[in-house]
Amino acid sequence: MRCAHCGAEIDEYELYCPFCGQALPTGALSEAERLLVRKNTGYYGRHFAALRAGKKTDWNWAAFAAFPFWAAYRKMVLPALLSFIAFGALFWFRVPWLAPALMVVFGLLGNPAYYRRTQALAEGLAAEPPEQLEQTCLRRGGVDWLLPVLLGVALLLVGVWWQFFLHRAALLLYPRG
Ligand SMILES: [Zn+2]
Repeated sequence: MRCAHCGAEIDEYELYCPFCGQALPTGALSEAERLLVRKNTGYYGRHFAALRAGKKTDWNWAAFAAFPFWAAYRKMVLPALLSFIAFGALFWFRVPWLAPALMVVFGLLGNPAYYRRTQALAEGLAAEPPEQLEQTCLRRGGVDWLLPVLLGVALLLVGVWWQFFLHRAALLLYPRG
């Protein structure tokens, strides 16, 4: 985004413009929330504001299309792993046609879950000294490309293992091929 004061190109989570030093508007997010969300603060600012005002449902296309990867990117490690296992379980129990229903559930739950997590983190940081707030927020929140990549590698390994397992099982059941 651009600084409204000097026009310099700056990161959207900055609280002060690094070029002219002017304070930047935080919009619908608190300082801590903006640092925790870090990317797409405009989008999450609008959605968090609606949830804060009592909106019960919300929709997130990224959470719908690829919840485990979206959650991992947003550093929600446990939801990422659990959803990953949930999708695996649908294939394990041979009901893969239920996957779209699960995707819709995750599309609906994504933003409320992320909002609650960001709230909890922000409340835990209320006593944080202001000079450390930015570093702590960026460490605990923010986004991370490494986690979804690791999840993709795990998916690949499970797929390879599954092929191998099926192949071995087929050989045991039908030894003459
Ligand atoms: Zn500026």
